[in-house]
Amino acid sequence: MLKLGYNEATCKENSSVARDLELCEKYGYDYIELRLDMLKEYFKTHTIDDLKAFFAKSHLKPFAFNSIENINFCTPAEWDTLVELFTFGCKTAQAIGNPYIIVVPTVTPEHCAKNEKEIFDDSVKVLNQLADIAEPYGVKLSFEPIGDRRWCCNSVRQALEIVQAVNRDSVGITVDCINVYLHDKCADAEYIRNLKDKLFVFHINDCEDLPLGILDHCHRIMPGKGTIPIKSVADAVRACGYDGPACLELFRPEYWEMDAEAVIKMGADCTRPFL
Ligand code: ZN
Repeated sequence: MLKLGYNEATCKENSSVARDLELCEKYGYDYIELRLDMLKEYFKTHTIDDLKAFFAKSHLKPFAFNSIENINFCTPAEWDTLVELFTFGCKTAQAIGNPYIIVVPTVTPEHCAKNEKEIFDDSVKVLNQLADIAEPYGVKLSFEPIGDRRWCCNSVRQALEIVQAVNRDSVGITVDCINVYLHDKCADAEYIRNLKDKLFVFHINDCEDLPLGILDHCHRIMPGKGTIPIKSVADAVRACGYDGPACLELFRPEYWEMDAEAVIKMGADCTRPFL
């Protein structure tokens, strides 16, 4: 059985770290994925000791930070900015016992047109560079393929080949339902079973029934309300031996218009049947 997790993207426009912590604890979530941009905002009025004090007495525990984006083909200036944010994430993660940071391939028209060998070579290089930084903090990287072709790494198969070549205990993969769907409408969902202990994080969501090429992250919807074969994906995730959280990750503007409490309560109700 999987645990119940919450990813802060779900209410990123209508909540805050402090409010998400309070509401996730109230509605029985086991884990939370905090967002680095929301953490930066939180630290304008709170300290790391406030965050440690919350988790010391809560059932809710931190799981993964989201996210370090556009990790491939950085210019030197882009890389410096990325490493600064990543190091902030590692230090914060170590302080509160947050095990994972999610890292995401690059999205640009130029880089997504590169061939698979170029993307493989660059991904292996940058994941090793980031793992060199993260390991002394005891933090692991979870590489998330994004199904949409605007991103340069799209499939679980492609991500697994990269992560196997990196071959470090601290580098694994995030499986996200809509990203598996955006790749090929989940035709390769069974492939997830090959991840075994390289599956670090599972993002759960559903989506509207739209053609690939039109379907986008704003069409994510509560589990069970859309067209993704979530049960098949979750079965494959469990078959890897994964027993961590299914973290509800939505980017739906409709939910950002609602009260965060209503969304977080609905999220728990909609996600629990798939655990
Ligand atoms: Zn995700």
